[in-house]
Amino acid sequence: MLYGALEAGGTKMVCAIGNENGEILEQVKFPTETPETTMPQIFDYFKQKDIKALGIACFGPIDLRKESPTYGSITSTPKKGWSGYNIVNAAKEALGIPIGFDTDVNGSLLGEVTWGCAKGLSDALYLTIGTGVGGGVMSNGKLLHGMLHPEVGHIRLPLVKGDPGKSVCPYHDNCLEGLAAGPSLKARWGVSADQLVDKKEVWEIESEYIATALMSYALILSPKKIILGGGVMHQEQLFPMIRAKFKELVNGYIITDEMEHLDDYIVPASLNDDQGIMGAIKLAMDACE
Ligand code: ADP
Ligand code: ZN
Repeated sequence: MLYGALEAGGTKMVCAIGNENGEILEQVKFPTETPETTMPQIFDYFKQKDIKALGIACFGPIDLRKESPTYGSITSTPKKGWSGYNIVNAAKEALGIPIGFDTDVNGSLLGEVTWGCAKGLSDALYLTIGTGVGGGVMSNGKLLHGMLHPEVGHIRLPLVKGDPGKSVCPYHDNCLEGLAAGPSLKARWGVSADQLVDKKEVWEIESEYIATALMSYALILSPKKIILGGGVMHQEQLFPMIRAKFKELVNGYIITDEMEHLDDYIVPASLNDDQGIMGAIKLAMDACE
């Protein structure tokens, strides 16, 4: 059985054909321009394939409320042309097959929970630290939606001592995304994050922001694993720093096996940056049920 997978991002659209084992059989990419130019290319691609369903892991914010008249649309994005675009309805109309739909980060989490490092876990968090910061949450075996969907990148954080705290988030002066996403590193240090590898002070501040946020997520969501992905997390030296600060912040309050083995609790994404597209395959599989 073949499934279509679309990882819809703000800069590129990744389209793939996969099977029920999460294997990606082929993949193409299109730049994200406007819906009118981009989506027909995507639908033409999928029309030529014998797929049973399509899963869409989409940039947001998006409307995931099944009962809503605007279910399936991208809501308040500043990305030109996309605000109000109903990607699910468009896909249904073009392809006439079941469409699975969730956030990009819930997609990545679903990939990891189905085929990756969180396989079989009922409760997990996936956090991406890239151009922005976003997170997918699974709780009691279900992807968390709620009122909208979690927006864990925008929680307010205390400023790290000595950091002037020039947030790049247009909405918040002290949120995690504003202080720790790739563009905030560039704003703070003047060069892009991948050129700062040897600067210890860069990663001291970065890991403190991330660890502080992880403490809140661990306390509120009680995930059994925390997976960190996205471009900035390619800086592997961050992992031991984040774990050490996290441990310090929790300060012995939570006593679980996970807390005893932080190497296995706070982990890198495990699917070679394919977690999002693999999650979209699973969204397609689930849409058939
Ligand atoms: P997106 O979030 O747009 O999907 P990425 O997850 O690749 O894409 O994130 C891009 C951001 O990550 C950029 O701000 C870039 O500077 C940063 N980045 C990419 N690669 C690295 C790296 N190896 N080390 C540190 N930062 C990186
Ligand atoms: Zn913000």
